[in-house]
Amino acid sequence: MYEFTMTIAGSPATTVESFEVDNPATGAAIASAPECTIDQLNDTMDAALGCFETWRKDQPARRAALERAASLLDAHVDELAEIITAEQGKPLSESLDEARGAVSDLRYFATLQLPEDTLQNDTEVSVRVHRRPLGPVAAIAPWNYPLAIAAAKLATACAAGCTVVVKPSPYTPLACLRFGEIVRDAFPAGAVSVISGGDRLGAMLCAHPLTRLISFTGSIETGKQIAAVAALDLKRIELELGGNDAAVVLDDVDIPRVADGLFANAFANCGQVCDAIKRVYAPERIYHELVDALADRARAARVGDGSDAHTEIGPLTNEQQRNRVTELVNDAVRVGARLVAGGRSPDRPGYFYEPTVLAGLDGHERIVTEEQFGPVLPVIAYHDIGDAIRNANDSRFGLGASVWTGDAERGATIAPQLEAGTVWVNTHQGYVTGQPSSGMKWSGIGTEGGPWGLLGFTATQAIHVVLN
Ligand code: NAD
Repeated sequence: MYEFTMTIAGSPATTVESFEVDNPATGAAIASAPECTIDQLNDTMDAALGCFETWRKDQPARRAALERAASLLDAHVDELAEIITAEQGKPLSESLDEARGAVSDLRYFATLQLPEDTLQNDTEVSVRVHRRPLGPVAAIAPWNYPLAIAAAKLATACAAGCTVVVKPSPYTPLACLRFGEIVRDAFPAGAVSVISGGDRLGAMLCAHPLTRLISFTGSIETGKQIAAVAALDLKRIELELGGNDAAVVLDDVDIPRVADGLFANAFANCGQVCDAIKRVYAPERIYHELVDALADRARAARVGDGSDAHTEIGPLTNEQQRNRVTELVNDAVRVGARLVAGGRSPDRPGYFYEPTVLAGLDGHERIVTEEQFGPVLPVIAYHDIGDAIRNANDSRFGLGASVWTGDAERGATIAPQLEAGTVWVNTHQGYVTGQPSSGMKWSGIGTEGGPWGLLGFTATQAIHVVLN
Protein backbone atom coordinates (compact mmCIF):
# COMPACT_ATOMS: atom_id res chain seq x y z
CA MET A 1 0.00 0.00 0.00
CA TYR A 2 1.32 3.48 -0.87
CA GLU A 3 2.62 5.34 2.20
CA PHE A 4 1.39 8.93 2.20
CA THR A 5 3.76 11.41 3.86
CA MET A 6 3.28 14.82 5.41
CA THR A 7 5.36 17.76 4.19
CA ILE A 8 7.20 19.46 7.05
CA ALA A 9 10.02 21.98 6.58
CA GLY A 10 10.16 20.94 2.92
CA SER A 11 10.77 17.24 3.68
CA PRO A 12 8.66 14.10 3.86
CA ALA A 13 7.53 13.21 7.36
CA THR A 14 5.91 10.05 8.70
CA THR A 15 4.82 9.00 12.18
CA VAL A 16 4.42 5.91 14.29
CA GLU A 17 0.72 6.67 14.80
CA SER A 18 -1.61 6.71 11.82
CA PHE A 19 -5.32 6.58 11.09
CA GLU A 20 -7.35 4.71 8.47
CA VAL A 21 -9.11 6.34 5.54
CA ASP A 22 -12.22 4.65 4.06
CA ASN A 23 -13.60 4.51 0.56
CA PRO A 24 -17.18 5.76 1.05
CA ALA A 25 -18.41 3.68 -1.88
CA THR A 26 -17.46 0.45 -0.07
CA GLY A 27 -16.90 1.39 3.56
CA ALA A 28 -13.53 -0.42 3.38
CA ALA A 29 -10.18 1.07 4.41
CA ILE A 30 -8.03 2.12 1.45
CA ALA A 31 -4.98 3.68 3.09
CA SER A 32 -3.71 5.21 6.27
CA ALA A 33 -2.52 8.75 6.98
CA PRO A 34 0.07 9.96 9.50
CA GLU A 35 -1.18 11.35 12.81
CA CYS A 36 0.98 14.45 13.28
CA THR A 37 2.64 14.66 16.72
CA ILE A 38 2.94 17.79 18.86
CA ASP A 39 6.70 17.90 18.23
CA GLN A 40 6.08 17.73 14.49
CA LEU A 41 3.51 20.51 14.75
CA ASN A 42 6.06 22.67 16.59
CA ASP A 43 8.72 21.91 13.96
CA THR A 44 6.23 22.82 11.24
CA MET A 45 5.41 26.16 12.82
CA ASP A 46 9.08 26.98 13.48
CA ALA A 47 9.87 26.29 9.82
CA ALA A 48 6.89 28.41 8.72
CA LEU A 49 8.07 31.36 10.81
CA GLY A 50 11.71 30.88 9.78
CA CYS A 51 10.84 30.96 6.09
CA PHE A 52 8.45 33.90 6.45
CA GLU A 53 11.23 36.49 6.89
CA THR A 54 12.62 36.00 3.38
CA TRP A 55 9.44 34.71 1.68
CA ARG A 56 7.45 37.83 2.56
CA LYS A 57 9.95 40.07 0.74
CA ASP A 58 10.33 38.08 -2.47
CA GLN A 59 7.29 38.39 -4.70
CA PRO A 60 9.12 37.11 -7.85
CA ALA A 61 10.16 33.96 -5.98
CA ARG A 62 6.60 33.41 -4.78
CA ARG A 63 5.21 33.85 -8.26
CA ALA A 64 7.76 31.43 -9.73
CA ALA A 65 7.06 28.86 -7.00
CA LEU A 66 3.29 29.00 -7.60
CA GLU A 67 3.77 28.65 -11.34
CA ARG A 68 6.08 25.67 -10.86
CA ALA A 69 3.65 24.08 -8.39
CA ALA A 70 0.84 24.53 -10.94
CA SER A 71 2.87 22.74 -13.63
CA LEU A 72 3.79 19.90 -11.27
CA LEU A 73 0.18 19.49 -10.20
CA ASP A 74 -1.03 19.66 -13.79
CA ALA A 75 1.07 16.61 -14.60
CA HIS A 76 -0.72 14.65 -11.84
CA VAL A 77 -4.39 15.62 -12.23
CA ASP A 78 -5.50 12.12 -13.27
CA GLU A 79 -3.78 10.51 -10.30
CA LEU A 80 -5.22 13.08 -7.90
CA ALA A 81 -8.72 12.69 -9.34
CA GLU A 82 -8.56 8.97 -8.62
CA ILE A 83 -7.49 9.62 -5.04
CA ILE A 84 -10.27 12.19 -4.52
CA THR A 85 -12.92 9.75 -5.79
CA ALA A 86 -11.51 6.92 -3.68
CA GLU A 87 -11.56 8.88 -0.41
CA GLN A 88 -14.42 11.34 -0.98
CA GLY A 89 -16.80 9.50 -3.32
CA LYS A 90 -17.64 12.01 -6.05
CA PRO A 91 -17.72 10.80 -9.71
CA LEU A 92 -14.33 10.77 -11.40
CA SER A 93 -15.33 13.54 -13.83
CA GLU A 94 -16.12 15.85 -10.88
CA SER A 95 -12.82 14.91 -9.21
CA LEU A 96 -10.98 15.76 -12.41
CA ASP A 97 -12.71 19.16 -12.48
CA GLU A 98 -11.63 19.66 -8.88
CA ALA A 99 -7.98 18.81 -9.63
CA ARG A 100 -7.96 21.07 -12.71
CA GLY A 101 -9.54 23.85 -10.66
CA ALA A 102 -6.70 23.55 -8.16
CA VAL A 103 -4.16 24.00 -10.98
CA SER A 104 -6.06 27.10 -12.22
CA ASP A 105 -6.10 28.60 -8.73
CA LEU A 106 -2.33 28.22 -8.37
CA ARG A 107 -1.83 29.85 -11.77
CA TYR A 108 -4.29 32.66 -11.06
CA PHE A 109 -2.85 33.63 -7.67
CA ALA A 110 0.67 33.57 -9.14
CA THR A 111 -0.40 36.61 -11.20
CA LEU A 112 -1.77 38.66 -8.30
CA GLN A 113 0.23 41.36 -6.57
CA LEU A 114 -0.50 43.24 -3.38
CA PRO A 115 -1.87 46.70 -4.11
CA GLU A 116 -0.08 49.90 -3.09
CA ASP A 117 -1.82 53.27 -2.92
CA THR A 118 -0.32 56.74 -2.84
CA LEU A 119 -2.38 59.27 -0.89
CA GLN A 120 0.03 62.16 -1.17
CA ASN A 121 3.41 62.56 -2.81
CA ASP A 122 4.63 66.15 -3.15
CA THR A 123 7.56 68.27 -2.04
CA GLU A 124 6.47 68.07 1.64
CA VAL A 125 4.92 64.70 2.40
CA SER A 126 4.77 61.22 0.96
CA VAL A 127 2.01 58.95 2.23
CA ARG A 128 1.78 55.43 0.87
CA VAL A 129 -0.54 52.63 1.94
CA HIS A 130 0.78 49.07 1.65
CA ARG A 131 -0.53 45.62 2.40
CA ARG A 132 1.78 43.37 4.44
CA PRO A 133 1.48 39.58 4.83
CA LEU A 134 0.25 38.47 8.25
CA GLY A 135 2.68 35.57 8.89
CA PRO A 136 2.17 31.80 9.21
CA VAL A 137 -1.35 30.77 8.18
CA ALA A 138 -3.26 27.75 9.47
CA ALA A 139 -5.30 26.52 6.48
CA ILE A 140 -7.95 24.07 7.66
CA ALA A 141 -10.07 22.24 5.10
CA PRO A 142 -13.27 20.14 5.11
CA TRP A 143 -13.97 16.84 3.31
CA ASN A 144 -16.22 17.90 0.44
CA TYR A 145 -13.47 19.35 -1.81
CA PRO A 146 -10.30 17.91 -0.27
CA LEU A 147 -7.90 19.27 -2.88
CA ALA A 148 -9.55 22.42 -4.27
CA ILE A 149 -10.08 24.16 -0.93
CA ALA A 150 -6.56 23.35 0.31
CA ALA A 151 -4.98 24.51 -2.95
CA ALA A 152 -6.95 27.78 -2.97
CA LYS A 153 -5.85 28.61 0.57
CA LEU A 154 -2.23 27.68 -0.17
CA ALA A 155 -2.21 29.80 -3.34
CA THR A 156 -3.75 32.83 -1.62
CA ALA A 157 -1.33 32.62 1.30
CA CYS A 158 1.73 32.38 -0.94
CA ALA A 159 0.58 35.21 -3.22
CA ALA A 160 0.12 37.42 -0.16
CA GLY A 161 3.61 36.56 1.17
CA CYS A 162 2.45 34.36 4.04
CA THR A 163 3.75 30.88 4.78
CA VAL A 164 1.07 28.22 5.17
CA VAL A 165 0.34 25.00 7.04
CA VAL A 166 -2.46 22.99 5.46
CA LYS A 167 -4.51 20.55 7.52
CA PRO A 168 -7.04 18.45 5.58
CA SER A 169 -10.07 16.70 7.07
CA PRO A 170 -9.33 13.31 8.68
CA TYR A 171 -11.99 11.82 6.36
CA THR A 172 -10.13 12.95 3.21
CA PRO A 173 -6.44 13.61 3.90
CA LEU A 174 -4.95 11.60 1.03
CA ALA A 175 -5.30 13.95 -1.96
CA CYS A 176 -3.97 16.82 0.12
CA LEU A 177 -0.98 14.82 1.40
CA ARG A 178 -0.20 13.73 -2.16
CA PHE A 179 -0.54 17.35 -3.32
CA GLY A 180 2.10 18.30 -0.73
CA GLU A 181 4.40 15.55 -2.01
CA ILE A 182 3.98 16.66 -5.62
CA VAL A 183 4.58 20.40 -5.11
CA ARG A 184 7.04 20.17 -2.18
CA ASP A 185 10.14 20.92 -4.26
CA ALA A 186 8.62 24.04 -5.81
CA PHE A 187 8.79 25.93 -2.50
CA PRO A 188 11.57 26.88 -0.07
CA ALA A 189 11.52 24.76 3.11
CA GLY A 190 8.81 25.97 5.49
CA ALA A 191 6.81 28.05 2.98
CA VAL A 192 4.26 25.29 2.48
CA SER A 193 3.57 22.39 4.84
CA VAL A 194 0.86 19.72 4.87
CA ILE A 195 0.11 17.87 8.11
CA SER A 196 -2.61 15.33 8.83
CA GLY A 197 -4.55 14.36 11.92
CA GLY A 198 -7.92 14.61 13.62
CA ASP A 199 -9.95 17.56 14.88
CA ARG A 200 -7.60 17.89 17.85
CA LEU A 201 -4.69 18.65 15.53
CA GLY A 202 -6.82 21.41 13.95
CA ALA A 203 -7.50 22.86 17.38
CA MET A 204 -3.78 22.77 18.30
CA LEU A 205 -2.80 24.40 15.02
CA CYS A 206 -5.31 27.21 15.63
CA ALA A 207 -4.12 27.76 19.19
CA HIS A 208 -0.42 27.61 18.28
CA PRO A 209 1.32 30.86 19.29
CA LEU A 210 3.05 31.21 15.90
CA THR A 211 -0.19 31.03 13.88
CA ARG A 212 -1.21 34.55 12.85
CA LEU A 213 -4.19 33.86 10.57
CA ILE A 214 -6.65 30.98 10.64
CA SER A 215 -8.20 30.39 7.23
CA PHE A 216 -10.93 27.86 7.89
CA THR A 217 -13.55 26.20 5.70
CA GLY A 218 -15.98 23.90 7.43
CA SER A 219 -19.01 23.80 9.67
CA ILE A 220 -20.52 26.72 11.56
CA GLU A 221 -20.10 24.85 14.83
CA THR A 222 -16.32 24.48 14.36
CA GLY A 223 -16.10 28.04 13.00
CA LYS A 224 -17.51 29.39 16.26
CA GLN A 225 -15.02 27.35 18.30
CA ILE A 226 -12.17 28.67 16.17
CA ALA A 227 -13.36 32.27 16.55
CA ALA A 228 -13.36 31.81 20.33
CA VAL A 229 -9.83 30.36 20.35
CA ALA A 230 -8.57 33.08 17.99
CA ALA A 231 -9.95 35.78 20.27
CA LEU A 232 -7.65 34.71 23.12
CA ASP A 233 -4.59 35.67 21.06
CA LEU A 234 -6.29 38.16 18.71
CA LYS A 235 -5.34 36.02 15.72
CA ARG A 236 -6.97 37.04 12.45
CA ILE A 237 -9.67 34.71 11.13
CA GLU A 238 -11.18 34.03 7.75
CA LEU A 239 -14.14 31.66 8.01
CA GLU A 240 -16.00 30.04 5.11
CA LEU A 241 -18.86 28.18 6.76
CA GLY A 242 -22.06 26.36 6.03
CA GLY A 243 -24.85 27.42 3.71
CA ASN A 244 -28.55 26.78 3.20
CA ASP A 245 -28.95 28.34 -0.23
CA ALA A 246 -32.45 29.14 -1.42
CA ALA A 247 -33.47 29.03 -5.08
CA VAL A 248 -36.45 31.28 -5.78
CA VAL A 249 -38.28 30.22 -8.95
CA LEU A 250 -40.52 32.78 -10.68
CA ASP A 251 -43.74 31.94 -12.50
CA ASP A 252 -42.37 32.66 -16.00
CA VAL A 253 -39.84 29.81 -16.27
CA ASP A 254 -39.44 27.00 -18.75
CA ILE A 255 -40.06 24.16 -16.27
CA PRO A 256 -37.95 21.32 -17.79
CA ARG A 257 -35.01 23.65 -18.31
CA VAL A 258 -35.17 25.06 -14.79
CA ALA A 259 -35.61 21.57 -13.31
CA ASP A 260 -32.35 20.57 -15.03
CA GLY A 261 -30.56 23.59 -13.57
CA LEU A 262 -31.97 23.15 -10.07
CA PHE A 263 -31.23 19.44 -10.04
CA ALA A 264 -27.63 19.82 -11.22
CA ASN A 265 -26.93 22.50 -8.62
CA ALA A 266 -28.58 20.64 -5.76
CA PHE A 267 -27.23 17.12 -6.31
CA ALA A 268 -23.67 17.60 -7.64
CA ASN A 269 -21.13 16.05 -5.27
CA CYS A 270 -24.10 14.24 -3.68
CA GLY A 271 -25.35 17.59 -2.32
CA GLN A 272 -22.17 18.05 -0.27
CA VAL A 273 -21.40 21.53 -1.53
CA CYS A 274 -21.41 24.59 0.71
CA ASP A 275 -23.27 26.60 -1.93
CA ALA A 276 -25.50 23.85 -3.32
CA ILE A 277 -29.19 24.66 -3.67
CA LYS A 278 -30.64 23.34 -0.41
CA ARG A 279 -34.26 24.58 -0.62
CA VAL A 280 -36.47 25.66 -3.52
CA TYR A 281 -39.33 28.18 -3.35
CA ALA A 282 -41.75 27.64 -6.25
CA PRO A 283 -44.95 29.52 -7.18
CA GLU A 284 -48.20 27.64 -6.53
CA ARG A 285 -49.21 27.79 -10.21
CA ILE A 286 -46.30 25.63 -11.39
CA TYR A 287 -45.51 23.89 -8.09
CA HIS A 288 -46.71 20.36 -8.88
CA GLU A 289 -45.23 20.33 -12.37
CA LEU A 290 -41.84 21.46 -11.05
CA VAL A 291 -41.87 18.94 -8.19
CA ASP A 292 -42.67 16.13 -10.66
CA ALA A 293 -39.91 17.25 -13.02
CA LEU A 294 -37.38 17.26 -10.15
CA ALA A 295 -38.58 13.87 -8.93
CA ASP A 296 -38.20 12.40 -12.46
CA ARG A 297 -34.59 13.54 -12.52
CA ALA A 298 -33.94 12.15 -9.04
CA ARG A 299 -35.33 8.73 -10.00
CA ALA A 300 -33.36 8.65 -13.25
CA ALA A 301 -29.99 9.65 -11.74
CA ARG A 302 -27.44 6.84 -11.79
CA VAL A 303 -26.16 6.36 -8.23
CA GLY A 304 -22.99 4.34 -7.75
CA ASP A 305 -19.27 4.12 -7.12
CA GLY A 306 -17.65 7.33 -8.38
CA SER A 307 -14.93 5.33 -10.13
CA ASP A 308 -17.58 3.84 -12.47
CA ALA A 309 -17.79 6.07 -15.58
CA HIS A 310 -21.62 5.77 -15.63
CA THR A 311 -22.09 7.13 -12.13
CA GLU A 312 -23.77 10.53 -11.80
CA ILE A 313 -24.16 10.64 -8.02
CA GLY A 314 -21.72 8.96 -5.63
CA PRO A 315 -22.08 8.12 -1.95
CA LEU A 316 -21.99 10.54 0.97
CA THR A 317 -18.44 10.87 2.23
CA ASN A 318 -18.96 9.34 5.66
CA GLU A 319 -21.46 7.44 7.72
CA GLN A 320 -22.02 10.32 10.13
CA GLN A 321 -23.22 12.49 7.23
CA ARG A 322 -25.52 9.78 5.91
CA ASN A 323 -27.02 9.40 9.38
CA ARG A 324 -27.68 13.12 9.51
CA VAL A 325 -29.40 13.13 6.10
CA THR A 326 -31.51 10.12 7.13
CA GLU A 327 -32.51 11.86 10.37
CA LEU A 328 -33.56 15.07 8.61
CA VAL A 329 -35.61 13.27 5.93
CA ASN A 330 -37.33 11.06 8.52
CA ASP A 331 -38.09 14.12 10.62
CA ALA A 332 -39.66 15.93 7.63
CA VAL A 333 -41.83 12.93 6.77
CA ARG A 334 -42.88 12.55 10.43
CA VAL A 335 -44.15 16.15 10.50
CA GLY A 336 -46.11 15.73 7.25
CA ALA A 337 -43.79 16.26 4.25
CA ARG A 338 -44.47 14.15 1.15
CA LEU A 339 -41.67 11.95 -0.15
CA VAL A 340 -41.83 12.28 -3.95
CA ALA A 341 -38.58 10.47 -4.80
CA GLY A 342 -35.92 8.59 -2.84
CA GLY A 343 -35.96 8.69 0.94
CA ARG A 344 -33.81 5.72 1.86
CA SER A 345 -30.35 4.16 1.73
CA PRO A 346 -30.05 1.50 -0.98
CA ASP A 347 -29.21 -2.00 0.22
CA ARG A 348 -25.50 -2.04 -0.58
CA PRO A 349 -22.21 -1.38 1.22
CA GLY A 350 -20.93 2.19 1.45
CA TYR A 351 -22.62 5.41 2.52
CA PHE A 352 -25.20 5.80 -0.26
CA TYR A 353 -28.51 7.62 -0.02
CA GLU A 354 -31.05 7.85 -2.84
CA PRO A 355 -31.55 11.27 -4.45
CA THR A 356 -34.59 12.58 -2.61
CA VAL A 357 -37.25 15.20 -3.36
CA LEU A 358 -39.63 16.38 -0.64
CA ALA A 359 -42.87 18.34 -1.22
CA GLY A 360 -45.82 19.61 0.81
CA LEU A 361 -43.63 21.46 3.31
CA ASP A 362 -44.57 24.64 5.16
CA GLY A 363 -40.95 25.82 5.50
CA HIS A 364 -40.51 25.27 9.25
CA GLU A 365 -39.25 21.69 9.00
CA ARG A 366 -35.63 21.05 10.02
CA ILE A 367 -34.83 19.92 6.46
CA VAL A 368 -35.64 23.49 5.35
CA THR A 369 -34.17 25.49 8.22
CA GLU A 370 -30.95 23.45 8.72
CA GLU A 371 -28.16 22.54 6.32
CA GLN A 372 -28.75 18.97 5.09
CA PHE A 373 -25.46 18.72 3.11
CA GLY A 374 -26.68 15.69 1.20
CA PRO A 375 -28.78 14.51 -1.79
CA VAL A 376 -32.12 15.88 -0.61
CA LEU A 377 -34.13 18.79 -1.98
CA PRO A 378 -37.19 20.24 -0.23
CA VAL A 379 -39.56 22.26 -2.46
CA ILE A 380 -41.81 24.83 -0.77
CA ALA A 381 -44.82 26.46 -2.50
CA TYR A 382 -45.39 30.22 -2.34
CA HIS A 383 -48.30 32.45 -3.25
CA ASP A 384 -46.63 35.84 -3.27
CA ILE A 385 -43.04 36.64 -4.41
CA GLY A 386 -42.63 39.01 -1.44
CA ASP A 387 -43.28 36.08 0.91
CA ALA A 388 -40.82 33.89 -0.99
CA ILE A 389 -38.06 36.50 -0.60
CA ARG A 390 -38.86 36.97 3.10
CA ASN A 391 -38.78 33.21 3.71
CA ALA A 392 -35.54 32.80 1.76
CA ASN A 393 -33.99 35.50 3.97
CA ASP A 394 -35.47 34.22 7.23
CA SER A 395 -32.34 32.20 8.01
CA ARG A 396 -29.10 32.34 10.00
CA PHE A 397 -27.32 31.32 6.78
CA GLY A 398 -26.31 33.72 4.02
CA LEU A 399 -23.88 32.01 1.65
CA GLY A 400 -25.58 31.87 -1.76
CA ALA A 401 -29.01 32.21 -3.35
CA SER A 402 -30.49 32.23 -6.83
CA VAL A 403 -33.44 33.51 -8.82
CA TRP A 404 -34.78 31.50 -11.76
CA THR A 405 -36.80 33.33 -14.39
CA GLY A 406 -37.53 33.67 -18.10
CA ASP A 407 -36.78 37.38 -17.74
CA ALA A 408 -33.19 37.98 -16.60
CA GLU A 409 -33.86 41.69 -15.99
CA ARG A 410 -36.67 40.81 -13.59
CA GLY A 411 -34.29 38.40 -11.89
CA ALA A 412 -31.64 41.10 -11.55
CA THR A 413 -34.08 43.35 -9.66
CA ILE A 414 -34.87 40.56 -7.18
CA ALA A 415 -31.24 39.41 -6.71
CA PRO A 416 -30.14 42.34 -4.46
CA GLN A 417 -33.08 41.67 -2.13
CA LEU A 418 -31.64 38.26 -1.18
CA GLU A 419 -29.30 38.21 1.83
CA ALA A 420 -26.39 36.14 0.56
CA GLY A 421 -22.72 36.63 -0.32
CA THR A 422 -23.38 35.49 -3.89
CA VAL A 423 -26.68 35.71 -5.75
CA TRP A 424 -27.06 34.10 -9.15
CA VAL A 425 -29.77 34.54 -11.76
CA ASN A 426 -30.65 31.45 -13.83
CA THR A 427 -27.71 29.48 -12.46
CA HIS A 428 -26.13 28.59 -9.12
CA GLN A 429 -22.51 27.83 -8.16
CA GLY A 430 -21.29 29.69 -11.27
CA TYR A 431 -17.78 31.13 -10.93
CA VAL A 432 -15.48 33.04 -13.25
CA THR A 433 -11.77 33.53 -12.53
CA GLY A 434 -11.25 35.90 -9.62
CA GLN A 435 -14.90 35.89 -8.48
CA PRO A 436 -15.04 36.31 -4.70
CA SER A 437 -17.01 34.10 -2.37
CA SER A 438 -18.14 35.17 1.06
CA GLY A 439 -20.86 34.42 3.53
CA MET A 440 -23.28 36.81 5.19
CA LYS A 441 -24.63 36.12 8.70
CA TRP A 442 -23.49 32.72 10.04
CA SER A 443 -22.08 31.61 6.69
CA GLY A 444 -18.74 33.26 7.27
CA ILE A 445 -16.38 36.08 8.09
CA GLY A 446 -14.17 37.47 5.35
CA THR A 447 -13.89 36.69 1.66
CA GLU A 448 -12.16 34.04 -0.41
CA GLY A 449 -11.08 34.38 -4.02
CA GLY A 450 -9.80 37.16 -6.23
CA PRO A 451 -8.03 40.29 -4.99
CA TRP A 452 -10.54 40.50 -2.11
CA GLY A 453 -9.43 37.12 -0.82
CA LEU A 454 -5.79 38.15 -1.12
CA LEU A 455 -6.32 41.21 1.08
CA GLY A 456 -7.70 39.00 3.85
CA PHE A 457 -4.23 37.49 4.29
CA THR A 458 -2.66 40.90 4.87
CA ALA A 459 -2.58 43.85 7.25
CA THR A 460 -2.69 47.50 6.17
CA GLN A 461 0.44 49.57 6.70
CA ALA A 462 0.56 53.32 6.05
CA ILE A 463 4.00 54.93 5.66
CA HIS A 464 3.89 58.67 6.18
CA VAL A 465 7.15 60.48 5.44
CA VAL A 466 7.76 64.20 6.03
CA LEU A 467 10.36 65.20 3.48
CA ASN A 468 13.24 67.41 4.59
P1 NAD B 1 -15.89 20.42 10.19
O1 NAD B 1 -16.08 21.76 10.77
O2 NAD B 1 -16.35 19.24 10.94
O3 NAD B 1 -14.35 20.13 9.88
C1 NAD B 1 -13.58 20.95 9.03
C2 NAD B 1 -12.13 20.87 9.41
O4 NAD B 1 -11.95 21.44 10.72
C3 NAD B 1 -11.55 19.47 9.48
O5 NAD B 1 -10.24 19.51 8.95
C4 NAD B 1 -11.53 19.19 10.99
O6 NAD B 1 -10.56 18.23 11.36
C5 NAD B 1 -11.21 20.55 11.54
N1 NAD B 1 -11.62 20.79 12.94
C6 NAD B 1 -12.62 20.21 13.63
N2 NAD B 1 -12.71 20.72 14.87
C7 NAD B 1 -11.76 21.69 14.95
C8 NAD B 1 -11.39 22.61 15.95
N3 NAD B 1 -12.01 22.66 17.15
N4 NAD B 1 -10.40 23.50 15.69
C9 NAD B 1 -9.79 23.49 14.49
N5 NAD B 1 -10.08 22.62 13.49
C10 NAD B 1 -11.07 21.73 13.71
O7 NAD B 1 -16.57 20.51 8.74
P2 NAD B 1 -16.83 19.33 7.69
O8 NAD B 1 -17.94 18.50 8.23
O9 NAD B 1 -15.54 18.72 7.33
O10 NAD B 1 -17.32 20.14 6.40
C11 NAD B 1 -18.66 20.35 6.09
C12 NAD B 1 -19.05 21.79 6.35
O11 NAD B 1 -18.17 22.67 5.64
C13 NAD B 1 -20.43 22.13 5.85
O12 NAD B 1 -21.12 22.88 6.82
C14 NAD B 1 -20.18 22.98 4.62
O13 NAD B 1 -21.22 23.85 4.29
C15 NAD B 1 -18.93 23.68 5.01
N6 NAD B 1 -18.23 24.21 3.82
C16 NAD B 1 -18.23 25.56 3.59
C17 NAD B 1 -17.61 26.09 2.46
C18 NAD B 1 -17.61 27.57 2.17
O14 NAD B 1 -16.84 28.01 1.32
N7 NAD B 1 -18.42 28.37 2.84
C19 NAD B 1 -17.00 25.22 1.54
C20 NAD B 1 -17.02 23.85 1.80
C21 NAD B 1 -17.65 23.35 2.96
